[in-house]
Amino acid sequence: MHKTRTQTIELHPLAPPKPDFGATCNGCGFCCAAEPCPVAYLFLFQFKGRCRALLWQNELNRYVCGMVVCPDQYVKLIPQRVRKRMGRFFASRISAGSGCDFAAEVINTKI
Ligand code: SF4
Ligand code: SF4
Repeated sequence: MHKTRTQTIELHPLAPPKPDFGATCNGCGFCCAAEPCPVAYLFLFQFKGRCRALLWQNELNRYVCGMVVCPDQYVKLIPQRVRKRMGRFFASRISAGSGCDFAAEVINTKI
C-alpha cells in the first residue's frame, strides 16, 4: 500500500506558493526545505532535512540554490575564482530552469 508522509516546513513569508508539478519553477523553496537533492548528498554530505544551501534572495522574492549562486560559500574546496563555472555545473546537475519536479501536495499554509 502507498504510504503518505506529512511534513511541516518553514519558508519565508514572501515566498511564492508552490506551483503545480511540471509548471515553471518559481523558487518557492518547498523541495529543498523538505529534503536535500543529490547535489547536497554528494557535495554537502547532507542526507536529510532542510538543505543548508537553500538561499532566500530578498531582491528576487524567491529562493535560489546556493550551490548555483555561490558554491564556494558552502564547499571550502571550491575557490571563489571558479564560482561561476561551478555554479553552472551545479545548475546543470539540478536541472535548473526546467519545470517543478517536486510532486508533494501542499495541504495547509500558515503565516
Ligand atoms: S522545483 Fe518546485 S518546489 Fe522546488 S523551488 Fe521550484 S517550484 Fe518550488
Ligand atoms: S543543493 Fe540546491 S537544489 Fe539541492 S537541495 Fe540544496 S538548495 Fe536545493
